[in-house]
Amino acid sequence: MNHLELLSEVSLILGSSKPIDDQINKTLATIGLHTGVSRVYIFEDSVDGLTTTNTFEWCNVNIESQIEELSNIPYSTIPSWKNNLDKNRHFYYYDVSQSPEEVRNILEPQGIQSILIDALTIDNKVFGFIGYDECHANQEWTSDEKYLLKVISKLISSRFEREVLENEKRKITEVANRDQLTNAFSRHHLFEKLVVLYEEAIRHQKKITIAMIDIDFFKKINDTHGHLTGDFVLKEFARIIMDNIRTYDFLARYGGEEFLIVIPYTDLENAFALVNRILELVREKRFKFNNEYHQITFSCGIAHSDEVINENIKAELFSQKLIDLADSRLYLAKKTGRNQICTNG
Ligand code: GH3
Ligand code: MG
Ligand code: MG
Repeated sequence: MNHLELLSEVSLILGSSKPIDDQINKTLATIGLHTGVSRVYIFEDSVDGLTTTNTFEWCNVNIESQIEELSNIPYSTIPSWKNNLDKNRHFYYYDVSQSPEEVRNILEPQGIQSILIDALTIDNKVFGFIGYDECHANQEWTSDEKYLLKVISKLISSRFEREVLENEKRKITEVANRDQLTNAFSRHHLFEKLVVLYEEAIRHQKKITIAMIDIDFFKKINDTHGHLTGDFVLKEFARIIMDNIRTYDFLARYGGEEFLIVIPYTDLENAFALVNRILELVREKRFKFNNEYHQITFSCGIAHSDEVINENIKAELFSQKLIDLADSRLYLAKKTGRNQICTNG
C-alpha cells in the first residue's frame, strides 16, 4: 500500500466540512481499500467506560457485517482487551487462535484470523478503538504499516475531539442566546435573528409579522404576592406562548415582562389570529403558585414588515422601525383598556 497516498487521503477527508459520520465512514472505506483487510471498524465506549459499542464499520466484499451484533459489550468479559488498550494503546494478534480464551470466544465466531487494534484517545484517555480484521489468512503487518495506522488513529481521535468541542460550543451558544428565567430568546439574539429575516424579506419577499406583548398590571402580582410568584408567572406565561407557536415562530424576552413573538412568513390577519388564541389561553389560565391561583391578561401591538420595508432601508433600521411600530400599537392597546391586541394606528 502507498503510505503517503493513504495518509493524504485520510487527512483530506477528516479535514473537510462534511458531518463527522460521513467523514468516518469514508475514512474507514479508504483505509479498507488501501490495506485490503476484511473489516475496518470503530468502537466507542460508554460514558462510564464499562462497555463498548461498534459504531462504524467497513466490510470488504463477501465479508459479513458484525456491527448489529456488537453493542454494549462489557469490558468485564474481556479484561485483557481493556488492559491492553489502557496500557499499550495498541495490540495485535497474528493468530487469533493463540489469543486469550475470552478474546478468542468473541473473535473466532466472527471468522477473524488476525486482528490489529489501536486505541482512540482524547486528552490521553481512551474512549474507544479502531480495529482491522483479516478473515482469510494470518496477516503480518510491517512496523512501518503499524506506525502508519497509529498515525491514522491519532487523526481519527482528533476528529472526534473536534466534534466534542463543537458540541460544547453549540451548547454554550444555545444557553447564551436564551433568557435564563423563561428560556425565551434573549434580546441580543432577537436582533441577530431579525437581521436574517430582514434579508429574506428583502431578497425573497418573505414577509414577517411581529407581536410586542406586555403583561397587564404585572407590578401588582409582584407587590401583592412577591417576586417569586412574579417569576413563576413569567416563566409559565412564556411556556404557554412557546407551546402554542409554530416551528418557524419564536419568542424573545424584550424586557422585564415584555416579550416579542416573531411570526415569519405570515400576514397580519393570521398573526392576529395566532396571538388572539394565545391571549384567550392566557386569560383562562389559572397560574398556581404556593397554593394560590393567579390570573393575568396581556396587551399586544402587531406590526408587519410591509409597513416599514423599502428598498433603501438597512437591517438595523428595519428591525428598530418594526419594533417601534409594534410598540406604539402596544401603547395604544394599553391606553384604550388593556387585555387586547392592536393591529393599526
Ligand atoms: P402595565 O399594564 O401598564 O404594563 O402595568 P405593569 O404593572 O405591568 O407595568 P410596569 O412597567 O409598571 O411594571 C412591570 C413590572 O414587571 C415591574 C417589575 O418589577 C416587574 N418585572 C420585570 N422583570 C421581572 C422579573 O424578571 N421577575 C419579576 N418577578 N418581576 C419582574
Ligand atoms: Mg406590564
Ligand atoms: Mg412593561
